Amino acid sequence: MLITSYHNHSDYSDGQTSAEQMYLAAKAAGLHEFGLSDHWIKPDNPNCEYASWGMPWERLDEYVEECLKWKKELDDENFTIRLGLEVDHFSSNWQENISQLQDYPFDYIIAAVHFAGDFPIDHRAEDWQGLSQEQIDAVWSRYLAKIRDIAASQAYDFLAHLDLPKKFNFMYSEALNDEIEHTLQSLSHNQLPIELNTAGWEKDCRSPYPDLTLLKRSRRLGIPLLINADAHQPAHVQHRFSEARALALQAGYTQLCRFKQRQCIMQEITHA
Ligand SMILES: [Zn+2]
Ligand SMILES: [Zn+2]
Repeated sequence: MLITSYHNHSDYSDGQTSAEQMYLAAKAAGLHEFGLSDHWIKPDNPNCEYASWGMPWERLDEYVEECLKWKKELDDENFTIRLGLEVDHFSSNWQENISQLQDYPFDYIIAAVHFAGDFPIDHRAEDWQGLSQEQIDAVWSRYLAKIRDIAASQAYDFLAHLDLPKKFNFMYSEALNDEIEHTLQSLSHNQLPIELNTAGWEKDCRSPYPDLTLLKRSRRLGIPLLINADAHQPAHVQHRFSEARALALQAGYTQLCRFKQRQCIMQEITHA
């Protein structure tokens, strides 16, 4: 199988090193396909604290040109650079945001939710501390509504970190079980792939996004899957990938998807 990782960051957004260093590390690590997906965040809500970690909007052309420059330089028979972007979904301006991206030659556009309203989901544990279980459920519920909105939009190629709000161990209660199921069904209905994001293993939650339970439920509903590192530094470009493949197999997945020019291509999982 071709080993791919499409969800990764450089210092165009919140990654720690240059695009060049990320690409060189991916090639040296033996990945077959690798893509950066720096954050593109255009909120519909002026209170979102996005500026420090998203790509400055005016740098998008430069980002795309640089990715394509390295593609020309580094692609060979064993290694292919794919062009991607991680786009925050906002319910009232997503069409405008997506239309600004349509003339770029992206191989994939990742949908992400880092804000529930203006609540920053994955910035600081302190934002969650002091919330009641009811308030925690309310954040999850707003988050899940955005995931369903993403699925229904048909505007993206795959969804980032399905259960991101668990990052600091503030879990939803049983009251949300039906809403979780409804959300998975919407991903299935719209055939929007999810990722097995290995970065979660290093967060407070100590489990990948999503965890095995959600992964099994996703498999049962026929939601396509791919594996990504969400690397923010060169050492992480294929962080715990063999473990992730084993987990995907354990959940019942036999295939993963990869992307080329916004087309999803399925391939069999092997232990290679
Ligand atoms: Zn993200
Ligand atoms: Zn990311």
